[in-house]
Amino acid sequence: MSDKKFASQADLAEKKVSFDQLSEHAYAYTAEGDPNTGVVVGDDGVMVIDAQATPVMAQDVLRHVRSVTDKPVKYVTLSHYHAVRVLGAAGYRAEHIIASRDTYDLIVERGEADMKSEIERFPRLFRAVESVPGLTWPSIVFERRMTLWMGELRVEILQLGRGHTKGDTVVWLPQDRVLFSGDLVEYGATPYTGDAYLTDWPATLDAVAALRPAKLVPGRGVALQTPEDVQAGIEGTRAFISDMFESVKSGVTAGHDLRTVYRDTYAELAPKYGHWVIFDHCLPFDVSRAYDECTGHRDPRIWTAQRDKEMWDALEA
Ligand SMILES: [Zn+2]
Repeated sequence: MSDKKFASQADLAEKKVSFDQLSEHAYAYTAEGDPNTGVVVGDDGVMVIDAQATPVMAQDVLRHVRSVTDKPVKYVTLSHYHAVRVLGAAGYRAEHIIASRDTYDLIVERGEADMKSEIERFPRLFRAVESVPGLTWPSIVFERRMTLWMGELRVEILQLGRGHTKGDTVVWLPQDRVLFSGDLVEYGATPYTGDAYLTDWPATLDAVAALRPAKLVPGRGVALQTPEDVQAGIEGTRAFISDMFESVKSGVTAGHDLRTVYRDTYAELAPKYGHWVIFDHCLPFDVSRAYDECTGHRDPRIWTAQRDKEMWDALEA
């Protein structure tokens, strides 16, 4: 493992974009495991869910939106605070940027550190990084839930619980039964848990499943277009989290250090999940957070560009 390039620095091949219509109002912009963007077309305008990494990359989303509607983009909703999904927000010139109070708090507390850390991790995903004007700040901050009517279309913006981050937000179209889950659910892509609440995440997935979505746009991976595929996405995410966290817990219980726990967990998970995109990128961060959660760090510690590299060298050298 010593030849592994840091995070996603070796991942330079462009992905193919798909733009799928899921219902009368819902579309999914996906790219073979890169971060997804959701699109809701209401009567009076458009909502974009997760912005892409830079305003220049947002232009490609807008080009696809313009292939189906001329309505203005009124809202950008942030599923959570991660830079790779939010720093493109300025590119839409939306009237409002919507985020949960917990997401807002995370931007205040660690947005700057996260921006520097993520730009180092994913050079390909920050195309034209110089177009980023700075941190993305919401103009509407809600607590727990808000309902928005885009004309006749009811849009529920919900915090169902902590999981991928403490601020996780989903967008739910009850009439169309379409859910945009952000990184709470992944499909064919490794869940990143470096900022997660692993003890809470399964109950939040229960709340996602309880909505009984007919279709679901995960944070990464193809749009899930049948109830069976939706369930496979939710249960695959749950299985990864549970297998990873259990492996780390048993290593901690046995008194092993982080490096040993990482090696054992990698060996245990690779046969089952090693083919999911960004597996090698995520696992050192995932195990580090799981180890912290098992050893008394209730909240995730802030990742900085420097902490990223130190952790990587300690686990992969
Ligand atoms: Zn994320």
